[in-house]
Amino acid sequence: MQIAHQNWPAVEQYLNSRSVLLIPIGSTEQHGPNGLIGTDHLVAESLARSVGEEMGILVAPTLAYGMSHHHLAFPGSASLSPETLIRVIRDVVTSFARNGFSRFFFINGHGGNVSSIQAAFSDILLDHPSLRLQLASWWLMPEVTDQEKIFFGTENGHHATCGEVAVTWHLYPEDETPIPPGVAPDPETEWPVGPERYRTLFPDGRMGSNPSLSSGEKGKVLFEIARKALVDRIRKFLSRDGADVRKGAGE
Ligand SMILES: [Zn+2]
Repeated sequence: MQIAHQNWPAVEQYLNSRSVLLIPIGSTEQHGPNGLIGTDHLVAESLARSVGEEMGILVAPTLAYGMSHHHLAFPGSASLSPETLIRVIRDVVTSFARNGFSRFFFINGHGGNVSSIQAAFSDILLDHPSLRLQLASWWLMPEVTDQEKIFFGTENGHHATCGEVAVTWHLYPEDETPIPPGVAPDPETEWPVGPERYRTLFPDGRMGSNPSLSSGEKGKVLFEIARKALVDRIRKFLSRDGADVRKGAGE
């Protein structure tokens, strides 16, 4: 149910009975010496596609760049400023709202996006009061963190986590790259930090993680838990006020 693989009459037909759109959002940033640069958008995208398929909901093209300033001292990272990200989200949502979508559920893969997504939502809702917007960051859902504790204990870390590395290995087994055991440094610091200071404090890019504990099998379990939790959140989101019924094209 990807919008990119529909034609416009098919989207128009969808909008005759439904108004909800899933929007995956992530980042393009380093994930430690063995994690994929696309981790955050690849995982969000796979979750959105899987959930969209199960629930019969259209999925928008992934927003693959996010607010990643602190990772810019590592090659392969690219970042949008918070103001750009807010504007991108606003323009994408209001465009789809003009078509008739009115319920937007963002599946997020990157912590650095959260404050900009929330700022964008507040901004959009000021001018478009009938829209409903919700954000779910997959790795923050308690169902996922509980399982990560079981798998990785205190060594999951805060960036390039065992959990996210494991999920990418489940999705892209050909990209699995082993790493010697060892927990990355996780010094107490003010936050956010700039890119150079980040690289000084976290020299290989990881924050407190030990992805030698990751495996594709664990990733499969975590992906499945995240998928189910998202289905639950989306059902609740859509059941709140008869939400998934079209209410006129945009406003
Ligand atoms: Zn990540």
